Amino acid sequence: MNDFQTVYGAAPEGAWAAPGRVNLIGEHTDYNDGFVLPIALPHHVRAEARRRDDGVLRLWSAQGDGEVVELRLDGLAPGAVAGWAKYPAAVVWTLRQAGHRVGGADLWFDSDVPTGAGLSSSAALECAVGVAYNDLYGLGLTAPELALLAQKAENDFVGVPCGVMDQMASMCCAEGSALLLDTRDLGQRQVPIDLAGAGLRLLVIDTRVKHDLADGAYAELRAGCERAAELLGLPALRDLPADGLDAALGRLPAELRPLVRHVVTEDGRVQQAIRLLDAGDLAGIGPILTAGHASLRDDYRVSCPETDLAADTAVAAGALGARMTGGGFGGSVIALVAAELLDTVAGAVAAAFADAGYAAPRAFAATPAAGARRL
Ligand code: ADP
Ligand code: MG
Repeated sequence: MNDFQTVYGAAPEGAWAAPGRVNLIGEHTDYNDGFVLPIALPHHVRAEARRRDDGVLRLWSAQGDGEVVELRLDGLAPGAVAGWAKYPAAVVWTLRQAGHRVGGADLWFDSDVPTGAGLSSSAALECAVGVAYNDLYGLGLTAPELALLAQKAENDFVGVPCGVMDQMASMCCAEGSALLLDTRDLGQRQVPIDLAGAGLRLLVIDTRVKHDLADGAYAELRAGCERAAELLGLPALRDLPADGLDAALGRLPAELRPLVRHVVTEDGRVQQAIRLLDAGDLAGIGPILTAGHASLRDDYRVSCPETDLAADTAVAAGALGARMTGGGFGGSVIALVAAELLDTVAGAVAAAFADAGYAAPRAFAATPAAGARRL
């Protein structure tokens, strides 16, 4: 068995976990200062760690290629690390850039978060390193501070211009709740999500279509939103009220209008969902999910045939609502389903994929799990 002891020849000083996530509603709003509503998944990255005092960082993952990656801390720089090791290395580099006096470590990872499935395995990996280093080196950083560091690591070192949702979800979610996050000021509220109590299940369908947010489309969308806000004289699209949307669209070039319409209506959908959840109407958010999918498909144009088929089939088979979750261009779909229809809906999606000649999707029912923690 390739446990820490076997890989590194000594026992770890501790073990930490950081989860993947699905976002219930609020997609592509986190770089527009808007609102998001993710839950943490029970799936997580487990990190085991032991400090080193020789300026060396060693990395091994059960999902890696079997080799230990060995890096010198003083050689870390954006672009200098290839492959999966750049994610954990990025966090250590970012901590040091921020002035934290941290040394090296032997780090060991194992994870059941599917990678490249829109479930934020990258944020889970980064946050696992963040919590481990925070404890081992006594940094005293808060969960939101670690999330911001992990986001900066992914932006500046890995080179993915992601917003802050994934890392905040992995760090700050609580078991049994969704995290209502205002991405402008990181204001947060835990919103109870009692799926079992409502007789519901949250089906997550990994379409097996790999997304790649570094390929430019995401950065282009983000730049489009920033340009629209600038043309409207607003700090961010979050500042455009829903009742000012039509007038604002008239002042924008045609290619930016659908982007703005998605962001503004999506922020509205988060608020609508919160009103229903606060009133105890979990089933009521179903149609909001479906409307969110239509907006991502028609206005933001980040869905793909597989996510469209999964969402449409789920609703046709009786789901209360379904939408793609995550950045898009593939990845996963969530469907809110009555408990007794779980197998029916999952079966219908599998059959539709087989009919279409797509690879078999992977489906599981998710419950809101805890954020990053020491084990
Ligand atoms: P997502 O975050 O949606 O899963 P990304 O493309 O952002 O997709 O991140 C996936 C990448 O993160 C993988 O290709 C791999 O490099 C890295 N990664 C995630 N989890 C692990 C792990 N347990 N071990 C090694 N690398 C991992
Ligand atoms: Mg990611």
